[in-house]
Amino acid sequence: MRDVLPWREPVPLDGTMGEPRARGRFGEYGGQYAPESLVEACREVDEAFREAWADPGFRGALARLLAVHAGRPTPLTPARRLSEALGVQLYLKREDLTHTGSHKINNVLGQALLATRMGRRRLIAETGAGQHGVATATAAALLGLEATVFMGERDIERQALNVFRMRMLGAEVVPVTTGSRTLKDATSEAMRHWVGATGDSHYCIGSVVGPDPYPWMVREFQRIIGDEARGQFAAELRTGVPDYVVACVGGGSNAAGTFAGFADTPARLVGVEAEGGAGAARGRLGVLHGCRSLFLQDDDGQITQAHSIAPGLDYPGVGPEHAHLRDLGRARYVTVTDDEAVGAAVRLARTEGIVPALESAHALAWVIHAAGSGDLPAGSTVMMTLSGRGDKDVSTLKELL
Ligand SMILES: *Cc1c(COP(=O)(O)O)cnc(C)c1O
Repeated sequence: MRDVLPWREPVPLDGTMGEPRARGRFGEYGGQYAPESLVEACREVDEAFREAWADPGFRGALARLLAVHAGRPTPLTPARRLSEALGVQLYLKREDLTHTGSHKINNVLGQALLATRMGRRRLIAETGAGQHGVATATAAALLGLEATVFMGERDIERQALNVFRMRMLGAEVVPVTTGSRTLKDATSEAMRHWVGATGDSHYCIGSVVGPDPYPWMVREFQRIIGDEARGQFAAELRTGVPDYVVACVGGGSNAAGTFAGFADTPARLVGVEAEGGAGAARGRLGVLHGCRSLFLQDDDGQITQAHSIAPGLDYPGVGPEHAHLRDLGRARYVTVTDDEAVGAAVRLARTEGIVPALESAHALAWVIHAAGSGDLPAGSTVMMTLSGRGDKDVSTLKELL
């Protein structure tokens, strides 16, 4: 467990986690580092998204999809036995209970609905472990779109079940054989493919990364997590706001959506990264996949491969808005090892009857550690986003336990 950055007093940020500045800037991060043809395609997505997001008709249609198809609102569950053991009051925002089992569906339904509004007939997506690919294939089937999912050859071998699920849902899965044959290469390949298909296809990015407008559009589609939780807290607690708001960070979409609901309050925001994928905690300034942000790099500035037991945290960078929140001191980013995450997953299973995704278990591992070390004062109220369920991880866990 490494806590890389000093804790500063949280400043409520009015107006942050709103729109980025011109050309998608969050402080010195973000932007649109893309070839000319993609800049034009991104401009079209930006224009369509702004229009749609201001249109009550679009908002209503998305809210209905999220309710009747994805199972929203998700509950806010008090973790009673674990809270008692830790000496804090822990509440879990249950994204694991959504259709397909993680928060990814929130973003994908938003982008799929936007694609139909733009007259596109196909979704293009990248996927690492296959979770975003499965969510994209699901949304495409629901709305009558085609789906083409790029996936590294190595990931295809490691994630056979999700490859089958995508094909079962009618998606085409395209193996990527370049580079390390994992997520980073699949993303590059998906973007390259989009260049030649912008007329009829929408590129559905799975996290708060990529060129403008994706980082803030994906955050807006995920802010339902934070907004719902804020309302549920107001109903449950007299103060209405938890002391701490915690979420795991891969690219950073479930954390950004969670933080967005609390950025203008005194709640302390904590993003938990994998020790081997700590873009926010240990990355350096760089450009990847159309965006300036913090990335893990070697001494020559080459972006390196991330490593985590949780496939969704296996990304060498972090979304630009997190880099900015880190610089501002508004959010704090900490890291957790594979072993700590596995331990936390087992503990949640045995105290609350919930098997979490290994990604989400990282957030919990920090809560457990911080409650023990006094970093979380006794009696604190903690709201943690449980980003997904652990069914996908049982074979990994089975080998370890
Ligand atoms: C993909 C995934 C993550 C990481 O992605 P973010 O964009 O950082 O949210 C976390 N948890 C689960 C369950 C995931 O599937």
